[in-house]
Amino acid sequence: MRIDIITVLPELLESPFAHSILKRAKEKKLLEIFVHPLRQWAINEYGQIDDYQFGGGAGMVMMCEPLANAIEFFRKERKYDEIIYMTPDAELLNQSMANALSLKENLLIISGHYKGIDERIRRHFITKEISIGDYVLSGGELPAAVLADAIGRLLPGVLNDETSALFDSFQDNLLAPPVYTRPAEFRGWKVPDILLSGDPAKIADWRYEESVKKTAERRPGLLND
Ligand code: SAH
Repeated sequence: MRIDIITVLPELLESPFAHSILKRAKEKKLLEIFVHPLRQWAINEYGQIDDYQFGGGAGMVMMCEPLANAIEFFRKERKYDEIIYMTPDAELLNQSMANALSLKENLLIISGHYKGIDERIRRHFITKEISIGDYVLSGGELPAAVLADAIGRLLPGVLNDETSALFDSFQDNLLAPPVYTRPAEFRGWKVPDILLSGDPAKIADWRYEESVKKTAERRPGLLND
């Protein structure tokens, strides 16, 4: 899979993809991520990519021309399955959306800044809009990194134990069960006996029950889905 990200602040995206699982995904050539500075498509020598909003009001808006030219440049290079704008006023990112996007070949992600991007770009170029939560961040870089991470770890071969993503929270609409590691007793706090029983069927049942219990307590809405 290939992910292209267009941003005003490419520096913010240097670290998230340079470590751990996403780094390994890139090394194994399972995932390519390219970060492109929008200023390459600035409208003048001052690097302008934003302007005041029509109708007045505080805050700058990202202009049509740089974004349209950038998106058209990439669309000429290859076919994108989705052109995604990260924005708080959109459908919330969830696991099933990440699962679906992980099956695509090429994604182009636009991260916004300031007051956001001109509405005409959203209407005419963007094919999917995604929010990472009901709060407002100062830029779309962290949301783009969140999305790329959620997708990248699902690509076959990226995680060491290929089945392990299947047992994370939200797959099957359940939260993950509690996990423990050595020592079996710490400050008098013991690991549940069943996990030390060596009986895989009983352990699987226990984990399932714990998942259901936790989901009912914390996120009952998931069980109704
Ligand atoms: N004025 C906008 C917020 C702009 S925040 C509004 O009220 O809806 C600036 C940029 O940060 C946005 O263009 C978007 O790309 C990004 N952003 C902020 N919060 C986000 C969130 N919860 N999910 C995804 N992107 C977000």
